[in-house]
Amino acid sequence: MTPSYLARNESGELHRRAERLMELLQACDICPKLCGVNRLRGEVGFCWSGVDPVVSAVVPHFGEEPCLTGTRGAGNIFFGNCNMRCVYCQNWQISQDWKGQRRNTVSIEGLAEAMLALQDKGCHNINLVSPTHFVPQIVAALAIAVPRGLRLPLVYNTNAYDSVPVLRLLDGIVDIYLPDLKYSDNAMAREYSVAGNYVEASRDAVKEMYRQVGPDLVLDDAGLARRGLIIRHLILPNEIAGSRECLRFIAEELSPAVHLSLMAQYYPTNKAHRKDLISRKIRAREYADVLEMLEEFGLENGWTQEFAATEVGRPDFASAAPFAWEGGIAPAPLTLTRPDSLTG
Ligand code: SF4
Repeated sequence: MTPSYLARNESGELHRRAERLMELLQACDICPKLCGVNRLRGEVGFCWSGVDPVVSAVVPHFGEEPCLTGTRGAGNIFFGNCNMRCVYCQNWQISQDWKGQRRNTVSIEGLAEAMLALQDKGCHNINLVSPTHFVPQIVAALAIAVPRGLRLPLVYNTNAYDSVPVLRLLDGIVDIYLPDLKYSDNAMAREYSVAGNYVEASRDAVKEMYRQVGPDLVLDDAGLARRGLIIRHLILPNEIAGSRECLRFIAEELSPAVHLSLMAQYYPTNKAHRKDLISRKIRAREYADVLEMLEEFGLENGWTQEFAATEVGRPDFASAAPFAWEGGIAPAPLTLTRPDSLTG
């Protein structure tokens, strides 16, 4: 199964989409913040990002879902800056330090070379982490990398605070959507992530992703994802994430067949200690409650995480090797909830 962007490249559509997306930077409405700034002229909006992509790390990654990690790792490209401000962001060193991230600015050609370098390392996919505010630059880079031989599936690994018109321009380019559905209450999204319209925006975005590639997750003979939708949900303490309503939305407004990746790895970092309700890890009871909801809503497909997952996988982007396994420690495994549930 070849990545769908190959056909778009052959027809010339990849270039046309890149041009259309780059035009949107003139009055940026790339994400639901709708800042309206002219990023082509150096203005910046909420995400502090101009026209050049900010690439903070390019690494094979061994802590993603098994169908993305495989044996040689997901090919992660971590983009700097962000269109949200999660007080608990574990990647805060690169997502909320816009001055420091200036040193990680690259050209679009440099981004294309990063994609090709991950392919040369044997990675199974290109996993675009926090891509939302750089979608135009990503598609422009793809239009360079594909003629040079890029053949890996694209994973769009997002906070789900995405714009539907922009996602439509990714139709037939992205093969695997990996949104993290973070909240079901806008008051919580505003308080903890400065995203007061998150619920409507993220649900519309995930519905569009589902329309494009859902509900099945297609694997190749080696068990690697080639196309589909995986929705992550990070459980937060004191029901801040609104897990019940997030799972209800997935089951009732998308499909119980959707593959869900339930994350237990929350730990207070960044500025989380300043807000009482989110200043601790989740409790075993809170995790067990959400596991019961999977059954209640008939969500059988996907993965759950070891409850002790907070002890591994904490990145340090100030280090030349940001992830623990680069020092020899294996990441916590994600457990398949129903091994026969994947389609291939
Ligand atoms: S991508 Fe950045 S500048 Fe554009 S609307 Fe979103 S936050 Fe604002």
